[in-house]
Amino acid sequence: MVTSLNEDNESVTVEWIENGDTKGKEIDLESIFALNPDVAPDEEIAPSPETPPPPTPTCVKVNKIAKVSTSVLPYLATTAARNHGVTVSLVLMAARRKSNCVKEVEKLQEKRERRRLQQQELREKRAQEVDTTIPNYEIMYMIRDFRASLDYRPLTTADLIEEHRICVCVRKRPLNKKELAMKDLDVITIPSKDVVMVHEPKQKVDLTRYLENQTFRFDYAFDDSTTNEMVYRFTARPLVETIFERGMATCFAYGQTGSGKTHTMGGDFSGKNQDCSKGIYALAARDVFLMLKKPNYKKLDLQVYATFFEIYSGKVFDLLNRKAKLRVLEDGKQQVQVVGLQEKEVKCTEDVLKLIEVGNSCRTSGQTSANAHSSRSHAVFQIILRRKGKMHGKFSLIDLAGNERGADTSSADRQTRLEGAEINKSLLALKECIRALGRNKPHTPFRASKLTQVLRDSFIGENSRTCMIATISPGMTSCENTLNTLRYANRVKELTVDPNQVMEGGRPNIHAVNQLDLLDEEWLSISPQRDDLKLLCEQNEEEVSPQLFTFHEAVSQLVEMEEQVLEDHRAVFQQESIRWLEDEKVLLEMTEEVDYDVESYATQLEQILDQKIEILTELRDKVKSFRSALQEEEQASKQINPKRPRAL
Ligand code: ADP
Ligand code: MG
Repeated sequence: MVTSLNEDNESVTVEWIENGDTKGKEIDLESIFALNPDVAPDEEIAPSPETPPPPTPTCVKVNKIAKVSTSVLPYLATTAARNHGVTVSLVLMAARRKSNCVKEVEKLQEKRERRRLQQQELREKRAQEVDTTIPNYEIMYMIRDFRASLDYRPLTTADLIEEHRICVCVRKRPLNKKELAMKDLDVITIPSKDVVMVHEPKQKVDLTRYLENQTFRFDYAFDDSTTNEMVYRFTARPLVETIFERGMATCFAYGQTGSGKTHTMGGDFSGKNQDCSKGIYALAARDVFLMLKKPNYKKLDLQVYATFFEIYSGKVFDLLNRKAKLRVLEDGKQQVQVVGLQEKEVKCTEDVLKLIEVGNSCRTSGQTSANAHSSRSHAVFQIILRRKGKMHGKFSLIDLAGNERGADTSSADRQTRLEGAEINKSLLALKECIRALGRNKPHTPFRASKLTQVLRDSFIGENSRTCMIATISPGMTSCENTLNTLRYANRVKELTVDPNQVMEGGRPNIHAVNQLDLLDEEWLSISPQRDDLKLLCEQNEEEVSPQLFTFHEAVSQLVEMEEQVLEDHRAVFQQESIRWLEDEKVLLEMTEEVDYDVESYATQLEQILDQKIEILTELRDKVKSFRSALQEEEQASKQINPKRPRAL
């Protein structure tokens, strides 16, 4: 219904009923005529003297209102206006401006569409406001309000790539399908290029909930929209040059299982379209081949090789050689060797991609899920530069075992316990080795784990650089693991937070700087592994309880003994037994002779048997101690307070 004609702004007011509600709006005559050219007045409409003076515009009944859409209303309004005698001068004026109208109307239509969308959004938002079915919806609002108070300045490609000897950064992944489906909340905020905030939901005694916002600072913080290429640019890329300059480089992905380590290092392996060309392994390889072409390096005539192996429960397996189990030996000059590790020569990025694929399929073959296995093993991919066969530089890229596995030390299953112990130990040792590198400390507990032992040469030396990418899951359900990851990364390189830099109000909870200096050389004695372990545990008193230390000792004893028993058994089986077999055969053949020397026979047989008994007794004793070590380990594992060893 047209309820009034407004001459001052050339419009009419219309009202209609929609879903039982009366609605109304003002429509200008221009748009009415443009939308309904057939009702627009033309020159022929002349002022008629008979026309009665316009009555005070009253209501025009609109029939069949249910079928009338709002777009028809202007027409009705026009008709109404004409019927009720809109002043002709007004109509003529409008007609003259008709051409402009088309544009205006388009704009109006756009506006209307926009308004409609906005209203829809608002409706949806309102619907959400009352949606108390979202678990933790109060927490969600608290986080939203908190975020609204922040000043966002994320990392961009324009940011300077800094030169760090040790670079520690954090990468947050987006919420995944599973988390979205269970309506998990994103509790991580990355407000600037180097700050990570965790909004941890807490409860007061009176059950009111509140957020504890913890702030951490790193060299870089990558939010969930950051691409692998961008992460690479600030982390591993600066290390490519290091290996051309005769240095050693290491780059680690550290974090909870499912937080994005493999996605970052190896590329996206989810779904059918596995693409390892976007991972840091491949991006680094690409740049190695680009650097190789630079005149400075071209003249060096370097060859590029790659290795790919995994460390699982303290044992090394070659992923480029059907998972052959390899031995790690240390020579007199403390040089660590992985015996028999295959180094494959690579000529281009494609060669490297093929190797990564081979290695990956080898890594996960026979596994029910890629994550089930990779959560328990460290994968090491190395790019090695050689000049006339001699090592020039080495870049090791490591996709570490899931750090939550470090807590498996209290499992009821021995295999799981041993794996957990090795992971716990190796991640602690890794942290100490990187810290020692940063402080040029003389002694590093690299022998405490296979991982650090194998990577030893990459940590030492003047020209070595390392980078750690701590990957975190955004969900509230991962909050505790995420905090553990951030605390660990923070310990690797302690950077302080400037509270003013981060936010306007409120004081972030700044993590105390925890300086733990490495102890002196005096630890070196008979069992370096043991001493390094002791050193390691002392450096990490907070995480390693005395019971856990005892357990670690029991485990390393057990592992050492296992190696010895296996080695001795193999020696007996492969060498001694064969020799005995041959000797006895000769001896028995001798008795076939008519006039053989009985005396000599008896003496020789006795000798052989004595030797056999001696060797087998030794082996049996070793097996006995090994068995008691197994029992000790089991006892020690029961002493660990189940709450105590949290994930690293
Ligand atoms: P991890 O190796 O730490 O166990 P993955 O790299 O396998 O974790 O990641 C777990 C899942 O999350 C995979 O499906 C992966 O594709 C996905 N994902 C990880 N990081 C990201 C990211 N930054 N962007 C999108 N998806 C990611
Ligand atoms: Mg993985």
